[in-house]
Amino acid sequence: MEKIFQNKVALVTGGSYGIGRATAIAFAQRGAKVVIADYKEDKNNETLRGIRDAGSEGIFVQCDVSKSNEVKGLIDKCIATFGQLDFAFNNAGVEGTQGTTHECTEENWDKTISINLKGAWLCMKMEIPEMIKKGKGVIVNCSSVAGLNGFTGLPAYVASKHGVVGITKTAALEYAKQGIRVNAVCPGVIHTAMIDRIAGGSADAEKQFTAMEPVGRMGRPEEVAQAVVWLCSDAASFVTGVPFPVDGGYDAG
Ligand code: NAP
Repeated sequence: MEKIFQNKVALVTGGSYGIGRATAIAFAQRGAKVVIADYKEDKNNETLRGIRDAGSEGIFVQCDVSKSNEVKGLIDKCIATFGQLDFAFNNAGVEGTQGTTHECTEENWDKTISINLKGAWLCMKMEIPEMIKKGKGVIVNCSSVAGLNGFTGLPAYVASKHGVVGITKTAALEYAKQGIRVNAVCPGVIHTAMIDRIAGGSADAEKQFTAMEPVGRMGRPEEVAQAVVWLCSDAASFVTGVPFPVDGGYDAG
């Protein structure tokens, strides 16, 4: 694979599993050094192994993206280790608990907004000064088709992902003249642990998820990763402020 990201450094939050893992490895396959951050430390981190197998270097930093001091520590570690930050995929997220708007608890609301929305904002807040110093950089935030549409039973998640689209567009406008592009990906149903948790092992729920997708199947984490690396590449040099569906046609319905 062409090393289009040679001498570049990418940060991926929620990088130990799922969409984050696939994206971290996709960055590494293109030559980028990769910092992965996650809530829990996994001693046998398969993402780090994937980065090394791709012939690149990576480090893990433990970080709760909802805590400003931890996000600051993450960016400091990235700069101390690799000297720069070129690309950031702010991907860490939780689905929260299921329940309609009146059933949603304050605790679930606060936790979901705090990780998904405040977390993406805190990451941008700490990443952007490093990119301003270099006069360039690309950020991709992880929204969802739930950032473009309503979904019953997940009001806090839907609110957080709509919020991610809003802060993405705002930052894109704010930093466009400083060489920083900011976009969001809006995945449809992607087969990861998150979907397995929501389905709760029910074959019926899995069938329903599959039926939601016009293409007739769930997406793979690697398919979202391809969109993220494209958005970070020079091929997308005129693309900023966009909530980019990667959703098998879901949002067209
Ligand atoms: P996943 O496998 O559950 O991955 C989520 C990652 O985020 C995990 O590595 C998790 O770490 C990490 N994380 C959770 N809370 C965190 C925190 N406070 N600080 C740092 N990291 C934290 O699910 P996924 O499907 O890959 O989800 C990745 C992103 O895609 C999420 O933002 C999700 O909302 C979005 N998305 C997913 C789908 C889908 O269908 N799968 C669709 C649309 C959007 P731990 O496991 O250590 O807690």
